[in-house]
Amino acid sequence: MTTAGRHAIHDAIVVGARCAGAPTAMLLARKGYRVLLLDRDRFPSDMGQSTHLIHPLGVAHLRTWGVLPQIAARSRSFTDWRVDLHGVVLQGAPPAVDGHGDSYGPRRHLLDGILAEAAVAAGATFRDGVRVVELVERGGRVAGVVTEGSGDSRQIEHARLVIGADGPNSVVARCTGAVESLVEPVVQSNIWSYWRGIALDHVRLYIREHRGAFAFPASDGTVLVAANLMHDEFVAARRDREAAFHARVEEVAPDLRAMVTGAERTEGFHGGCTRAFVREAAGPGWALVGDAGMKKDPVTAQGISTAFRTAEMVGEAADEGLSGRRPLDDALADYAAARDEWLLPYYRFTAQLARFARPTEALAAFYRETQTDSDATARLFGCVALTHSPEEVLPSA
Ligand SMILES: Cc1cc2nc3c(=O)[nH]c(=O)nc-3n(C[C@H](O)[C@H](O)[C@H](O)COP(=O)(O)OP(=O)(O)OC[C@H]3O[C@@H](n4cnc5c(N)ncnc54)[C@H](O)[C@@H]3O)c2cc1C
Repeated sequence: MTTAGRHAIHDAIVVGARCAGAPTAMLLARKGYRVLLLDRDRFPSDMGQSTHLIHPLGVAHLRTWGVLPQIAARSRSFTDWRVDLHGVVLQGAPPAVDGHGDSYGPRRHLLDGILAEAAVAAGATFRDGVRVVELVERGGRVAGVVTEGSGDSRQIEHARLVIGADGPNSVVARCTGAVESLVEPVVQSNIWSYWRGIALDHVRLYIREHRGAFAFPASDGTVLVAANLMHDEFVAARRDREAAFHARVEEVAPDLRAMVTGAERTEGFHGGCTRAFVREAAGPGWALVGDAGMKKDPVTAQGISTAFRTAEMVGEAADEGLSGRRPLDDALADYAAARDEWLLPYYRFTAQLARFARPTEALAAFYRETQTDSDATARLFGCVALTHSPEEVLPSA
């Protein structure tokens, strides 16, 4: 860290301007705080390593923030899921949130661009193409950031609070030494692309032993279809993702294979995966939000909705501290504890599902019982869609 500076120019600096950072900046700017939002990427742009299913919880945030009409103008909503869990097919919808059960699958350039624009409209100063390389420290607290722009020149920006929304390789986490725990290696990986001309109006998900596939409506009339490979298979298939995709989809989801055959693929194949971890979410003068603070395997598609919810949570804590209603660091510590209390059961559940392991007899029996009960199906889907704590729904091991 650099030790420098006298005056805090900004109330908050938010590092990273995608689905965690842009809403955090927007919410604080809407409360009247001076917010600087920084991202090393140019906007709008895609985030290559991610699919983009947003559960009703995430959609509820988009609705509350007033940006859903812009998303809906380019993406179809859908409510129903058809989930094949090791041969047991469950159909229904995840629980509604605030009376709405719709999900969306907007491409990231669309979603992240709209959110960054909303932050600017709220009064945040947004600089893209600017990388944060270090933090400024004063009196044992984080007090700003050091940035590098397109030239080589470095700049120091001071703030009362620095929020890391800078994804899994967070510079804010690295510089603060945020402690990492519950680390899970990369288990499974995704290969996907987009097709036009497929009539799919719901989510389809297949989870089989060490393999899977899924599909959902995306933006601009396209449908995303993806294959799940265990990570060693994914690495072996790096030279021919297309062949690996087709082989896997044929194997676990012949109906999806039939859909993509004859439909128009609109672009090449993407691949993505991640290790999973939980990081300490706050300390003196800093906080982490979204993937910077907790990264889950994508199998439950919880990352974007989690980013939105944690943006709300850190926004409320920051407001309490910056307004002087409470000591800032106390409010941030409460944010960190509340985040863990809410998310850790979902983290453990996701890590389990990501193994694509054969279910125990007890779990297979639970899936079969759930299949015949629509309320139970909704509760189980809620474990994926972040509305029902898995520890309250699933049988104990
Ligand atoms: C294969 C895969 C599929 C997924 N599918 C889904 C899905 O269907 N649904 C879902 O909800 N989630 C999904 N996720 C998870 C989702 O992508 C993430 O949870 C989400 O992107 C987290 O958002 P974020 O804003 O926290 O971080 P990111 O989206 O990673 O954004 C971080 C931003 O910080 C910027 N940044 C980083 N370092 C710096 C720096 N030093 N200075 C300035 N800027 C910096 C980056 O440029 C980037 O724009 C998937 C993930 C993977 C890997």
